[in-house]
Amino acid sequence: MLRNRAYKFRLYPTKEQSILINKTFGCTRLIYNMSLAKKKNNSELSCYDLIKEIPKFYLKYPFLKEVDSCTLRCAIFNLDNAYKRYYKRLGEYPNFKKKESKDSYRTNNITSTYKGKKYESIKIDLENKVITLPKLKEVKIRGYRNLNKINGRIINATVERIGYRYYVSVVVEEAVTLPDKKEDKIVGIDIGVKDLVVTSDGNTYGNPRYNEKYEKRIKKLQKDLTRKVKGSKNYIKNKIKIQEVYRKLANARKKMTEEIVNKITKYNDIIITEKLRVKEMLIKKEKISQTKTLRKNITNATFGQIIRKLEEKCKMLNKSFVQVDEYYASSQICSRCNSKNKEMKDIKIRKYKCSECKLEIDRDVNASINIEYEGLIKYFKNKYAN
Ligand SMILES: [Zn+2]
Repeated sequence: MLRNRAYKFRLYPTKEQSILINKTFGCTRLIYNMSLAKKKNNSELSCYDLIKEIPKFYLKYPFLKEVDSCTLRCAIFNLDNAYKRYYKRLGEYPNFKKKESKDSYRTNNITSTYKGKKYESIKIDLENKVITLPKLKEVKIRGYRNLNKINGRIINATVERIGYRYYVSVVVEEAVTLPDKKEDKIVGIDIGVKDLVVTSDGNTYGNPRYNEKYEKRIKKLQKDLTRKVKGSKNYIKNKIKIQEVYRKLANARKKMTEEIVNKITKYNDIIITEKLRVKEMLIKKEKISQTKTLRKNITNATFGQIIRKLEEKCKMLNKSFVQVDEYYASSQICSRCNSKNKEMKDIKIRKYKCSECKLEIDRDVNASINIEYEGLIKYFKNKYAN
């Protein structure tokens, strides 16, 4: 079986290389924004119609020729994906990209043959710790100390800047042999606020307060920012500082998510979760205070990441991953007698008390058991439908 895997390296460009990288960020942003403007005027335009416009942009903005042309096409593909996500109700309407302390561009690996010799536009040499990228040539990388070779076909690379740091994520298509599928151990997972993850076997994982320290720092830095002149040196410095805290927060989240996901996937064969309510997550920002927005964003990002990583890991280990419908009222149903208690809509009620069968059980454990049942029905329906 072939599988895509992403490898992320820290990138160490020279001064000249970082200038070119930053130019590429600017050029891809320009193409993205101009294509978005065209699309706003005429929603019928397809991705390929927009790509056909690139030569016209070259005439108007000759500096576009200085950067890897593939990144410009990828910017249009990114815009196309943003629209697709919007139409599937998975994301907001695409916005114009602003110049920020965080930026990225993608380029595809293009293979060609010349005089019987095969050439690739992206290459990685892990012995010498360098990656070859179009226009940039060799750039130093660091990461994956114990890996000395990438086995597979490189599909694309995304160059990213966060604060002062540069990274490159390389997607590789790898051939893998999967372990046999099993259905011995089944677990339902509820994603909560008191504990990040509660499972139907009664275990809890993750400290939801891991972000408090960073939240405080971000709040303080954002307050400082309002006292600085927009666009000034100190303003930019402050923005980068904020980005650095966000990076640390993301690292802490990643570490915690990996720990949770590794434990759950190690001991279970069928893993059942809820779909996240995206519509609720895309809350109108002006309705609540800035602090609450920040907290909500961080929590949503954590939930989203846990579910995404669970799905990825299940694929890697050939385990079954099932998601129950987002409108399934897992917290309102009694996990023993199936009667419904609408009072449980109030998230402050921590204990489920059933008036029918007198069951008393922790709110989140009750929900995770319901999720397990509901998911199993879906799992077997799918299995025998074919
Ligand atoms: Zn009951």
